[in-house]
Amino acid sequence: MTFQIQAIDVGYLNLQGAANVFLIEGPAGFALVESGTATTWPELVSQLEQRGVHPTQIMDLLLTHIHLDHAGAAGHFAAGDSRVWVHSFGVPHLIDPAKLIASSRRVHGEMYERFYGDLWPTPESQALAVVDGQSISAAGLEFHAIETPGHARHHHAWLLTHEDQRHVFVGDALGIAVPNSDFISIPTPPPEFDPLAWKHSLQCLRDAAPTHLWLTHGGLQSSNATDALRFIDRVQARLQEECDVLNKLCGAILASGARESSAYEHALKKAIQEYKNCLHAKAAAADVSAQHVDQFLGEYFLRMNLQGALRHASTRA
Ligand SMILES: [Zn+2]
Repeated sequence: MTFQIQAIDVGYLNLQGAANVFLIEGPAGFALVESGTATTWPELVSQLEQRGVHPTQIMDLLLTHIHLDHAGAAGHFAAGDSRVWVHSFGVPHLIDPAKLIASSRRVHGEMYERFYGDLWPTPESQALAVVDGQSISAAGLEFHAIETPGHARHHHAWLLTHEDQRHVFVGDALGIAVPNSDFISIPTPPPEFDPLAWKHSLQCLRDAAPTHLWLTHGGLQSSNATDALRFIDRVQARLQEECDVLNKLCGAILASGARESSAYEHALKKAIQEYKNCLHAKAAAADVSAQHVDQFLGEYFLRMNLQGALRHASTRA
């Protein structure tokens, strides 16, 4: 049972290296992990066609979670008859994307229209619920779902094994590998960021004994077991660093006053500046170019992470 995996850069945020989908050719056809956004759909179609694949040949679309950079074009594939496999919590949002669109508009603000576009609904009969530990057959291969909450509660990594190779498509569970650097950025968006669950998920990924780690944001990061475990260790260290910084900043914001009061807004602004100084210094030390710092760790990213950490802190309070 042989297969071929190709990472396709969909040009998310109009940037090179910002997001991939993974085309898998198996003995019974094609499967795809992640869909890209609705706005990257034309680019993805053209990239698939360059490989001799028409989107309607993708019989199975496997999603790691329903954030729009991963699932935004799910409905486009469903319109061509693909089955869409997603965490059970994600199913209702694919069938009726109104809530998901509203929540993404809240998180992404003016970025939404430019980079996300509207989801097409996925017909109920094609939105297939996946639970932890479930195996599904796609392209004549078996994919095993590993529930990996933390970045989002409804998150799965997908494991594909072949002889001594264990490929894991990790979605956002191992963060973002910033292009041309050694820097791993940790996205902590609202409303489901949960650091404890995330640490547990890292252990689940270690237990899966991966050899090949495929990051949606960063592509292939390892091709043997030693490097894979080393990469997960690095993510764990970065997650801890990020949580320490965000906890401290959130503490100051939450102690400043009521939400939306001027004291709160002032504390939030100050926290974003502090977070920026801290994260950008770390990125520069890891050889991230000034351009990539702007593009991958800009104000929009900082704000999203702080909002996610604040949301988590307030649900615990
Ligand atoms: Zn995500």
